[in-house]
Amino acid sequence: YTLPNLSYEYAALEPNIDARTMEIHHSKHHATYISKLNESISGTDYANLPIEELVSDIHSLPSDIQGSVRNNGGGHYNHSLFWTSLKSANSQNEPDGDLMDKINSTFGSFDAFKTQFAAAAATRFGSGWAWLCQNESGELFITSTPNQDNPLMQGIADQTGQPLLGLDVWEHAYYLNYQNRRPDYINAFWEVVDWAVVSSRLS
Ligand code: MN
Repeated sequence: YTLPNLSYEYAALEPNIDARTMEIHHSKHHATYISKLNESISGTDYANLPIEELVSDIHSLPSDIQGSVRNNGGGHYNHSLFWTSLKSANSQNEPDGDLMDKINSTFGSFDAFKTQFAAAAATRFGSGWAWLCQNESGELFITSTPNQDNPLMQGIADQTGQPLLGLDVWEHAYYLNYQNRRPDYINAFWEVVDWAVVSSRLS
């Protein structure tokens, strides 16, 4: 597994997410999940699986690598999804088309969706993620997971489905700029979501 390049500069998300946070988050935190994952599974039958497949059925893996795949494999998948869900702030800061229709029919309105997602992110105790997902019936749902767990993880996540959008609420994602003000970071996140990419993940 290798660290994916970002399609934008570290400073591209300012002032919403600062360049120094992005640099440390991507080049140090994400890179460390990958090196630890590689270290734990190199030479095993699992070293060449797509990351989605590797993290979705952790209980089927040898017990000595389950912990590393859950934490470091989860970390690799989650951050890869996160980077590609972000872009410089511009005029289109809400979804359209099928995704907007589904959000409206599921949550009542885009604002109601944002409120529910922000609550999932704000109330995740300690480190973790908030998610917008699609279940096997095609329905949207919001959930959150602790640590580097994610909704692909069968038998681990409270609700499983395909992640469309994830928000990292570990302090390393916001502490330099926002310190203890996680809700301000969550508000700023909405300014830099790439809704075209999120929509493209709908199946
Ligand atoms: Mn992170």
